[in-house]
Amino acid sequence: MAVQTYTRRVIETEVLPGFRGVGQPTARRLAMRASDPTQAGRTLLVHGPAGAGKGAFVEDLLALLFCLASPADERPCNACRGCRDARSRSHPDLVIASPETWRDDRSSGESIVAAARRWLLEASGAPIVAARRVVVIEQADRAGEPVQNALLKALEEPTDRHTFVLVADEPHALLPTIRSRCQSLRIGPVPRQELVAHLMDIRGLPADQADVLARIADGLSGTALAFVDDHERLTWRRRVQAELLSLLERGRADRFGSARGLLDETVRAVRPVSDGPEDDVRTPAALQRRAAAMIVDAWRSLARDLLVAAVGRPELAPSSELAPGLEEIALRVGAPALRESAHQLERVHAALEENAAPRLALEAAMLSWPNLQQ
Ligand SMILES: [Zn+2]
Repeated sequence: MAVQTYTRRVIETEVLPGFRGVGQPTARRLAMRASDPTQAGRTLLVHGPAGAGKGAFVEDLLALLFCLASPADERPCNACRGCRDARSRSHPDLVIASPETWRDDRSSGESIVAAARRWLLEASGAPIVAARRVVVIEQADRAGEPVQNALLKALEEPTDRHTFVLVADEPHALLPTIRSRCQSLRIGPVPRQELVAHLMDIRGLPADQADVLARIADGLSGTALAFVDDHERLTWRRRVQAELLSLLERGRADRFGSARGLLDETVRAVRPVSDGPEDDVRTPAALQRRAAAMIVDAWRSLARDLLVAAVGRPELAPSSELAPGLEEIALRVGAPALRESAHQLERVHAALEENAAPRLALEAAMLSWPNLQQ
């Protein structure tokens, strides 16, 4: 215990150089190369699923781009003014926006496209203190085509004093002409042992808790940290999975009632995941879609856990810790039905990303969920 306390205190008081996020060796290597001053004018696209830890990676990337340490391979030093201002997002040459902030301003009569153009023009000003200005566009994939065209125009006129960083869950929602101009930095799952060690180091979690969280987060560091920071989220997930297990023995009317109930409950509980300060949900429709996607995520993990338990590998199923009878239930349902249901859940998940109606999507998933009533 004393050893652990000591280690944590050292981490808090001593400023260690390097990336603070976890994993992502390829994206780090590409980022180091792109931070070379001769490479300025590049556009970087940081992409990966929600909860992958893009926010943490972008923070490291900004520190790297603004770090004043020399030689360059010692960046980010995390001690200089550039690093500190980058990490607190207060650097005078850092400009951040998200298409959400360019919504039509009815009072001024300015359209979203005009707002985006005005903003991009302002962002293109000369750097104030650093060698370059860094322009971050969060949730770039959520911008409509007219806004993306305005963005493309800005990217088509690169200067060596500007670096654009686009952040997106779904890179294919970007215009191909934008994608082709970007250096892609993919943020994905982290090997389990590495994520466990990270959770133990930075949050002081005991090994067994860190292990469970790393597994239920599917190796996504942003999701794992969101579970650490928001315990209600973990409680919510356990409740959803327990309800879905109980629905295996209930008919259609109960299932549809439950789909409505889960959606309402989740809408009330939705909190932004720790994947960037702009990752909020403002309209009721967006809130419902976010809630439905969260339910389907928990559902997919449960289906996958049941499937590995049904084929005789229950030790690979993190949910078995939530439901002690998981293996027996899995064997009763059988692998073929679970496989089919898992496929259907993937389709529902994809449909939600394509803006399917949240309640209908959940009802479709309910219909494909195996039935043990017979
Ligand atoms: Zn530095």
